[in-house]
Parts: sequence; C-alpha cells; structure tokens
Amino acid sequence: MATLEIRDLHVSVGDGSDGSKEILRGVDLTVRSGETHAIMGPNGSGKSTLAYAIAGHPKYEVTAGSVTLDGEDVLAMSVDERARAGLFLAMQYPVEVPGVSVSNFLRSAVTAVRGEAPKLRVFTKEMKEAMEALAIDPAFAQRSLNEGFSGGEKKRHEILQLEMLKPKIAVLDETDSGLDVDALKVVSEGINRFSAAGDTGVLLITHYTRILRYVKPDFVHVFAGGRVVEEGGPELAEVLENEGYEKYVKAGA
Ligand code: ADP
Ligand code: MG
Ligand code: MG
Repeated sequence: MATLEIRDLHVSVGDGSDGSKEILRGVDLTVRSGETHAIMGPNGSGKSTLAYAIAGHPKYEVTAGSVTLDGEDVLAMSVDERARAGLFLAMQYPVEVPGVSVSNFLRSAVTAVRGEAPKLRVFTKEMKEAMEALAIDPAFAQRSLNEGFSGGEKKRHEILQLEMLKPKIAVLDETDSGLDVDALKVVSEGINRFSAAGDTGVLLITHYTRILRYVKPDFVHVFAGGRVVEEGGPELAEVLENEGYEKYVKAGA
C-alpha cells in the first residue's frame, strides 16, 4: 500500500527574462495504490506543470509545499531516485534516442528501478508477454526509442513501461489528443488492469473527457488557475463532458 501526498504545492516557472511566474498555487492531492484519479482542466491551468514538478523537471521550481511517497520526501530525490522509489512519470523519457532500441531502453529502466539487471532470457520473456498483452507487434522491441513513433505507439510504449516497471504510483499526462480509438482502448485497458490489480495508483491528467469513457476513475479533480477547484467521483467527468470547464475557469481565476 503506497501513498503519494501532495500538500499545498506551489510551483513557479522561470520565463528566462524578468524572473518567474507562479503556476501552481497550492495543490493538495492524495493518491493511494489501486486508486485511479483523473485531473481534468482547461488548457493552461497547470496540469502538466504538476506532472513536471512531481517528475523533478529542473525548469519547475517548487517554492512551497511538499510531495511525499510513503512519508519520504520526493522533492529531495533525484529523478532516478524518484523512479527507484516507485514513481513512474510518463514524460520522463520523451526524447528520441536513435541507436537505442525499445528493448535496450526497457532493460536499462528495469535495471535502474529494480537495482539489478534482470537475466536477459528472463527479461526477454517478460517483455514478450507484456507486449502480447498490449497487442504490440514484436518487431516494436527493436525500433529506435521514440524515433518516428506515432501517437499511438508512444502511448503503447508508455503502458509497456508501466507493465515492466510496476510502479507504486504512475503519473500519466495525456497531452496527446491525437490517439485513435484502438490506441485509446489499449492504453485504457492497461490502466484498468493496473488499478484492478490494486498495486499501482494512477494519476491520469487529461484535458479531454474522451479517455474517461474507457477508464473509470475513482476520483475526479477539476484543475483551474493552478489549483484544484472541485472534486468528486466519476459522475463529475460526465458533468464536465456536458458543461465544459467554463464555470471553473472563473472560480480558479
Ligand atoms: P496545462 O497542462 O494545464 O495545459 P501547463 O502546466 O502546460 O498547463 O501550463 C500552465 C501555465 O504555465 C501556462 O500559462 C504556460 O504558459 C506556463 N508554462 C508551463 N510551462 C512553462 C515553461 N516551461 N516556461 C514558461 N511558461 C510555462
Ligand atoms: Mg498539459
Ligand atoms: Mg492533458
């Protein structure tokens, strides 16, 4: 049983010229293993900033508040330490790495998180099974990391990493609205399998309500103006789908 606790988190982003701008203005959020939380909000409300701050992106400066995983201070950890502690942050490796295959990348990631290299034969079997479960073409394992990946392939890779790394808490920033329905289903089934197993807590960040037709979150948090302005159960996602974010934009301003 793991708990990610975010308390009164304030985050600023440097704009490179006249100082910095406060984006997150006091975020409180608790995510436990087996729970799926959706963070929903209009563009520019700070959703990705929250994900980057949890991930430890150097551009996002935490000016107040805390983030802990089972009581451990996440903000004091290096990016690698966060991964080893059981945090999975989908945007951690968005870069194209020519010459590094998906398979090599996954083996390094698994090694880093588990603290020892899995035997090649064992790892290959594990990876094959995970890829089968996600309906990923076996040839995908030999592709160069992120090079020419379609939106759907990026998402499948994200979920494949989840299957292999089995994190305590996964933060998924679904910035890609270009997923086709098949990819959306694969991603959603992956997330649902995780939450059903009860070992992983999922923080699903999304602007669009579409993915919530396939993933039923236990909790929905509406984000506006850099803070949570409304919370509820899955029914709140339906309200948002019908009514949009307009009234919350005013509330968050
Ligand atoms: P969302 O993901 O909800 O669309 P973001 O967290 O991406 O929102 O952005 C929130 C606000 O922070 C926006 O006004 C955006 O311009 C600003 N912002 C985010 N990242 C940066 C950055 N690296 N440099 C400057 N401003 C940023
Ligand atoms: Mg975003
Ligand atoms: Mg999004």
